[in-house]
Amino acid sequence: MAEVTINNSPIHGDSILTAVYGETGPNWSRFHTGTDFAPYGSTPAHPDLYSVCTGVVVNVINYTGSQALGNQVVIQDLVTGYYWRYCHMQNPSPLSIGDRVTTGAKVGVLGATGNVTGPHLHLEYSTTSYWSYDTFLNPSDALGIPNARGTIVHYDGSVVPPEPEPEPEEQEIKKQRFPWVLYARKFRNR
Ligand SMILES: [Zn+2]
Repeated sequence: MAEVTINNSPIHGDSILTAVYGETGPNWSRFHTGTDFAPYGSTPAHPDLYSVCTGVVVNVINYTGSQALGNQVVIQDLVTGYYWRYCHMQNPSPLSIGDRVTTGAKVGVLGATGNVTGPHLHLEYSTTSYWSYDTFLNPSDALGIPNARGTIVHYDGSVVPPEPEPEPEEQEIKKQRFPWVLYARKFRNR
């Protein structure tokens, strides 16, 4: 079983990925739209949840009994411009729309509100602030963890993040030459 240590985990303790992005199966109508973190080891059943980015709160959704994703908070990552959605939180987020957060700021408490089989964080990453099957990204990739069920995630805030991969050098794009095509047009004689 893979184990990984990161400094921007949504849980500041040990957790385990109980479902990952893109899975399909009877639990999901199309595919699993996020990565699921459940408490692991000595982590309490309902640990605090933390921002994985420097960002701004763009939506807070409080569970009233009908939201499949339970109590939610949506944070726009001010580095990437994309959106993190924390779902199934135990209580409404203490944050409000417009609040600024830094990596490691508390955003809520892990819970089991909405359509769940047990307490966990369903964490989504998307190019849009609104929920759409068409705009999801892989949150595991964004956090630098394996997108593999059963991965144990350790948190260590002192871990130096790896150097970002350099952009591949721009490939020289050969100019495509479009052949001149001569069209002969026949004129009808009247
Ligand atoms: Zn999930």
